[in-house]
Formats: sequence, structure tokens, C-alpha cells
Amino acid sequence: MNDLHIHNTLSRQKEKFEPLDPANIRMYVCGPTVYDFAHLGNARPVVVFDTLNRLLRRHYPKVTYVRNITDVDDKIMAKAKETGEPIDTITARTTQAFHDDMGALNALPPDIEPRATQHIPQMIAMIETLIKKKHAYAADGHVLFNVPSMKNYGELSRITHDNLVAGSRVEVAPYKKDPTDFVLWKPSSPEQVGWDSPWGRGRPGWHIECSAMSEAHLGTTFDIHGGGLDLIFPHHENEIAQSRCSHNGAPLAKYWMHNGFLTINSDKMSKSLKNFFTVRELLAVAPGEALRLALLSGHYRQPLDFSLEALQTAKATLDKWYGALRNASAMQTEPATLPRAFEEALLDDLNTPLAIAAMHEMVNELNRDPSPALKAQLLAAGGALGLLREEPELWSRWKPAGQSGPTDAEIQAQIEARLAARKAKNYAESDRIRDALAAQGIILEDSAGNTTWRRN
Ligand code: AMP
Ligand code: ZN
Repeated sequence: MNDLHIHNTLSRQKEKFEPLDPANIRMYVCGPTVYDFAHLGNARPVVVFDTLNRLLRRHYPKVTYVRNITDVDDKIMAKAKETGEPIDTITARTTQAFHDDMGALNALPPDIEPRATQHIPQMIAMIETLIKKKHAYAADGHVLFNVPSMKNYGELSRITHDNLVAGSRVEVAPYKKDPTDFVLWKPSSPEQVGWDSPWGRGRPGWHIECSAMSEAHLGTTFDIHGGGLDLIFPHHENEIAQSRCSHNGAPLAKYWMHNGFLTINSDKMSKSLKNFFTVRELLAVAPGEALRLALLSGHYRQPLDFSLEALQTAKATLDKWYGALRNASAMQTEPATLPRAFEEALLDDLNTPLAIAAMHEMVNELNRDPSPALKAQLLAAGGALGLLREEPELWSRWKPAGQSGPTDAEIQAQIEARLAARKAKNYAESDRIRDALAAQGIILEDSAGNTTWRRN
């Protein structure tokens, strides 16, 4: 088997993955800001890094996967003002919705899910260190990171100080020493959420949250840091600045991985463009696995254009795969090994489109030879991608929310009525029931004295 190679944003190259400690792979991925339902673009990093997490777990004895919850942020405060709800109510409800939606996409929960509001003392401590080391200064109730104090600022995004100054068109706050300095701590008015600090009552900036939480749970330097492409600058650049400057220059992460955008007609799916579908609304249109397959159908670094047609294509592919599983013989008991082509595709910078192509091959093979061994192998590949987790029987009964037609219980009652008619040798009635169901898209399948059904 080949080694794992991943594209490192730091070097802009594919590199061999060499863990800092092979006994424990440490990975941090920036999580959601919890003020509203997640859209499918927000789900892309979750599904991509979940697939990486699953891959790492197959090759290393232990993985510590940390994904935070940003539960203090100006967007959350704005939402509270708009709805009149307490912040805690909004963040608790949104966090629950996020867990439910990501669960429906078969994303495994991270090992640790730190919340920003529970790490305020660690953030304050890091800011104090930065002030002591002369990388930060307090001014007007704020604390700012002084960008020119760090010699190699910009190594991730490759943005230079001159570019940054030229780009800072907005009016520069008078308390900043340099126009590129960014906020570590900001003051809160009495009605705003805030915590006591050496600089007065206030709240943290977004970037310091991740520096403090990754330090608390993964230490000074860890293996992989991930997120969407839009986080490279300023979020990740500033995380690096804060962490390196408070850790005597030690790197924050060895490998930086960024997923490309999910787009709609080539525009980034985003709240601001209002061109988004929430995961919640799409789960009423197609099962979670169809959403997941649609997200994995492109390489994670490329843009991926989403459409409802693409979602239906993913659903049809899974229908075919589940059909092959349904028709195959019972499972074998020994665990299956993954076909080499499949696993090597994933080891090559998480090439999911190639892995999916290998699964198509496996399905064709299983259709030719419906053996327990091939079935087990297909299920193992499905598990590696977080797919084929349903009972094939149940998968084929799925219907969109609000679609008319008989309920599962009504169908079951009709199947029993048909069975009774057959026992009474009333074949005209049993055929009538079958045809009436078929007209509603319900297909009955008789085998070995048993009748199963599926929605067409
Ligand atoms: P946000 O809540 O905007 O901070 O986004 C949470 C995560 O979703 C971040 O990792 C973003 O990079 C990612 N993200 C947001 N929009 C998209 C998109 N359209 N495509 C892919 N990733 C996205
Ligand atoms: Zn972050």
C-alpha cells in the first residue's frame, strides 16, 4: 500500500504525510459559528474532514480530531438582537441542529468539540503572553496583535504587508499602531455579552478562539489543521501569528488542508448571496447519504457545483448500489479488505472521485457475482466513505417529505390483505392489490414465501 500524501497549503504541494507522533494523529478543523442552520457549503468541510478522519483511523492506532463550536461572535449577537432570544438559547438550538444535520450526513462526531465560551481564561492567558512578548498591545479597551512585530507574517496566504496596507481601504481605527493590526480582544457595552479581563469587560476576537482551543486540546504543534479555502486569510494566517508568537516560533500545524467552495452556478454558496440550500431543507428532498455522495463526487480541493439534478444523480447511484446489495447473498463473517485501487485513491490526497469510480467497478462485479465476499467488500468501501450505512430494505422505502402516497403502515396492511386473498385463492383480488400499489410506485417482490417492497 502507498503512503498517505496530502496537499499542504503551506508549501502549495502534495507532501508525504509524516506524523509528529504516529501513536496519536492530531487534527483541528474550524467548526461552525452557531447562529443559524448550516447550508450545504458549510457541510462540505465537515464531510471532507470526516472522510479524512475515517482514513487516518484505518492507518493509525489513534486519532484526536478536534472541531470547535464558535458560540461567541458578532453574528450571534446580531441574531439575538433581531429575534429577542437569549444568546444561549440560540447557540444551544443551533448546535443541536448542526449535530443532527451532520449526523444525517454520517459525519462521525469529533473526539473533542470545544466551545469558545468555555475557553475564555485560556484566550486571556494567550493574549497576556502576546502582550508580554511585545506582539500585542492594549488600546482603548481593545487588545490588538501588532502584525509588523512578526517577521514571517503571511507565510500561509503569501500576502505581504505592503499588499495588505494597500488593500485596507476601509477607514483604519485610530487606536491601531499599524493598519494591518487585528483584534484579539474587544470591549463589550453593558448590554452586550462579555467577560471580565485585565483590559475591562469584553469578548475575544474570532482568531484567538481557535489558537486557544487548539493549544488546550492538541498542544503547541499538531499534525493537520483544516477548513474551507476562505479561512486561509485572515483566519488561519492570524491563528498562525498568535500561536507561533506565543509559542516561541513553534509551528502551529505541520499540514494545512483547505477544501474548495461548493458553488451554485459558479458562485460560492453563502448566506450573503442568499444562494444557499440548508442541509435541513435538502434532507426533505433526498436522504443524507445522497447529499454526502454529492459532496464527495468532486475532489475536495476543486470547486464543486451543486444542483438539485446533481443530488438526484447521487440518489440514483445509491439506489443502484443498494439494489446490488439487496440482491447479493448473506454477509460473510470475516471482515473484508478494501480493494487496493480504492484505498490508494484515498491515500492520494483524498481522491474521492477515483474511490467512487472504484466503487462503481465493485458494484458491477457484485452484480455479476452476488457473493458474500464481494458484498462485504462493497460495504467496507461504503464505510470508508460514510456511505451504504442503511439497511438496503429501508433505503428503498425512502420518500421525500410531503410526498403523497400510502404510508409504510398502509403498504404493509395491503401486503397482508394480498396474502389473505392468495390464501383464499382469490387471485383476481391479489393481482388487483399488486397493480394498485404499482400504480402508486410501490413495487412488491415475492421471494421464498416472503413479500418485501420498495418505492420505485
Ligand atoms: P462559516 O460558518 O462561514 O465560518 O463556515 C464554516 C465552514 O464552512 C468554514 O470552514 C468555511 O470555510 C466553510 N464554508 C462556508 N461556505 C462554504 C462553501 N460555499 N463551500 C465550501 N465550504 C464553505
Ligand atoms: Zn478557526
